[in-house]
Amino acid sequence: MIVSLHVATGAALGAAVRRRGALLVLGPVLHILSDRVPHQDIDSLRFEVGSGAAGLVALATRFGPLHPATLGAIATCLPDAEHLIRLPRPGGRKLFPSHRFEDWHREGGLPTWVQLAAAGVLLGAMLAARPTPRR
Ligand SMILES: [Zn+2]
Repeated sequence: MIVSLHVATGAALGAAVRRRGALLVLGPVLHILSDRVPHQDIDSLRFEVGSGAAGLVALATRFGPLHPATLGAIATCLPDAEHLIRLPRPGGRKLFPSHRFEDWHREGGLPTWVQLAAAGVLLGAMLAARPTPRR
């Protein structure tokens, strides 16, 4: 799944769950489930990083860096950091399950433009919504 859609679905998860501790587990689980949906990936690391960072900055600016929506977005897209940072690769493979095991990451299917549009609609709706009070 493209990074900006991980950011958008993670933000929606955070806004729905609103429990920061649970998001540390649920975000990566959502990442795995999203990577299992057959999808096309964007071949530009620059675009992936730029669009993901733009989404995170927009959420942090709108809701605050510690708001569950922002934290949910971070927790959900964080596993993709191993595409940027060289972490240990036991057996020559990446660490996160949906990056490590080929059949956990399904390629083909959902086009990148559909994912990008979904991310834009989801993030746009969240950013435009009235803020909800913190618990
Ligand atoms: Zn990933």
